[in-house]
Amino acid sequence: MALPFVIDRAIRGLARAGRLLEDAILPCGCRACDAAIDPDERDFCETCATQLANCVARAYCGRCGEERHEYLLHDAVCTSCKLGKRPLAWRSIVRVGRYEGPLKSMILKFKQQYKLDHVLGRMLADAILGRLNPSEIDAWTPIPMHWGRRLVKRFQPTMLLARTAVARWGGSVEPLLRMTRYVEPFHVRPGLTAKDRANEIAGAMAPKRGLAIMGRRICLIDDVTTTGATLREACRVLKDAGARSVDVAVVARAARGLRD
Ligand SMILES: [Zn+2]
Ligand SMILES: [Zn+2]
Repeated sequence: MALPFVIDRAIRGLARAGRLLEDAILPCGCRACDAAIDPDERDFCETCATQLANCVARAYCGRCGEERHEYLLHDAVCTSCKLGKRPLAWRSIVRVGRYEGPLKSMILKFKQQYKLDHVLGRMLADAILGRLNPSEIDAWTPIPMHWGRRLVKRFQPTMLLARTAVARWGGSVEPLLRMTRYVEPFHVRPGLTAKDRANEIAGAMAPKRGLAIMGRRICLIDDVTTTGATLREACRVLKDAGARSVDVAVVARAARGLRD
């Protein structure tokens, strides 16, 4: 091996190590857009903080998750749900905000690298505490990831989120579900219709052997939901296995019109 090549590699290695060290010691930029921010500021730059406040502040129905003006909600439930007009797979839904702007950027980043689990987990914990009583949930279950994908990615975003969020009240994270076959992630195929998604995910999840589901109150955790196909299938599997109730908690939910 030629000496210049060895030196060049050594330098690049050192530079990489330096960058890692810098990341560990120095405060990062804005969590959403990476803009340089004052270390005294919190996680976001001013622009992202404003946009984020707007996307998490909207009122939504705690049953179906649709955004509604506060005046159109009764006990945090929309009229259609109140009248029982909308059959739902879950008992209630909690979400941090709309799948747009800085929240969307953070989720997309989080799916690639596990840097943002603390920020997103903290936001999810706040959202859950605002709507659910954690003592009424027996198990917090992340939406599963196929083992082949986990092997490639080396981490499971929904598991990290669940762990970080429920650590706040010492909840029990139990991966009660498994994928029975590989389903290519929906977020990398935005052209899929709601029907396509439902068809693709149908039968792709099963209860994990040896773990208790019967008679338990379970809350599913996911990072993002667009049409809700994955969550509906997970709810169906848990209910078929005898779950007493299933609630869902997601970081972001696509608003009507934004879904693909
Ligand atoms: Zn920003
Ligand atoms: Zn509703």
